[in-house]
Amino acid sequence: MNRNDKLSDHFTLGELIRSEMAERKSIDNTPPDALIPKLKRLCDEVLEPVRIHFGVPFRPNSGYRSPELNLAVGSSPTSQHCLAEAVDIEVAGVSNYDLAVWIRDNLNFDQLILECYTQGEPSSGWVHVSIKPNSAENRKKVMTFTNKSYLPGLVV
Ligand SMILES: [Zn+2]
Repeated sequence: MNRNDKLSDHFTLGELIRSEMAERKSIDNTPPDALIPKLKRLCDEVLEPVRIHFGVPFRPNSGYRSPELNLAVGSSPTSQHCLAEAVDIEVAGVSNYDLAVWIRDNLNFDQLILECYTQGEPSSGWVHVSIKPNSAENRKKVMTFTNKSYLPGLVV
């Protein structure tokens, strides 16, 4: 499969795996073939519903992170991004808080985290969404990450 191939109506493989850090550090962020179906699930269950609801094109981040890239960004080695089970999103013109609320109320997910959001700055931070390979295992855990700590629920 190559980067321009579509995983779903609005998203290509390249969009799910692109990374500025990978480009800057020349890190290969090509996922193993076995993870492609999981990237497709992220598109079908998370990205497409968000794209269709808000009607705005957007570029997801970190749908996949190779172990080398994950180390370079300083993320936890157990990050769901390494398993192609998590994606970070922002939608232009929608506050990340509102985006997180919509996902909380409308999608099935494992973890939803409103990250580094500052009230009054709609585009600050981003929204992390993960799904488990088996939807029945989704924990529907909602958190806010701010000031280096996790709080339960969406807190601003
Ligand atoms: Zn994330």
